[in-house]
Amino acid sequence: MNFHIMTLFPDMVMNGLSESITGRAINNNLINVEAVNIRDYANNKYGHVDDYTYGGGAGMLMQAEPVYQAYKSIVNKVNRDISDDKAVKKTRVLYMTPQGKPFNQAMAEELSKEEELIILCGHYEGIDERVLEMIVTDNISIGDFVLTGGELPAMMIVDAVSRLVPGVLGGEESALYESFYDGLLEYPQYTRPEEFMGRKVPEVLLSGHHKNIEKWRYEKSLERTKERRPDLYEAYIKKQSEQEKNNKKTK
Ligand code: SAM
Repeated sequence: MNFHIMTLFPDMVMNGLSESITGRAINNNLINVEAVNIRDYANNKYGHVDDYTYGGGAGMLMQAEPVYQAYKSIVNKVNRDISDDKAVKKTRVLYMTPQGKPFNQAMAEELSKEEELIILCGHYEGIDERVLEMIVTDNISIGDFVLTGGELPAMMIVDAVSRLVPGVLGGEESALYESFYDGLLEYPQYTRPEEFMGRKVPEVLLSGHHKNIEKWRYEKSLERTKERRPDLYEAYIKKQSEQEKNNKKTK
């Protein structure tokens, strides 16, 4: 899977992603990450890519032309024809923006099926709307707060998506039974020692009785989700009762 990150700070994303599991995935050629420096496509000798906003207001805006040229260089590389409007939309371009759809695990799963992803990081006050209209297929937010740039959100997306690419995690199971996998948060987990400062590992986990362990984990997942994320809990219960109704109908 290939990630192309359009940014003014290529070192920031490459340094961050070259560590830990994403770094290992890059080294093992399971994912490929390239950072495309939008400044390389500035149309002036000073490398300026921002300008004042029409209509006034504080702050600078990234200009359309360098963003478009950086985008074109990526699309040309992945051998796509961008001579007509339809083709321009072929490769998904994710714009990191607080105005986007909140990122979640279901989106990470869906994105992990793509072969190529272009991620566009804004800076300053953002980017000229015209180029966004032309190239962006998905507006994605990582939460209801405003950051200084799209680099951290882009790194988060590469991390969340690439750990779903087969082979990136040591054991495939690790991605299967985690929080959000089934719409619930993960159950509590313990490792050695059996007792830590007077706190014991729940007996059932030491029993070796797999059915009981599974039941305990499911109950804890339900309990934890209800307590910490009542929104997810309600959605889960609703989905379960709909599934039960459908099962009865098909019987
Ligand atoms: N003026 C913009 C607005 O009000 O929507 C905010 C611009 S922000 C200072 C600069 C850049 O940071 C954005 O273009 C975007 O790429 C990134 N950014 C900031 N907050 C973000 C968030 N919550 N999710 C994703 N990207 C974000």
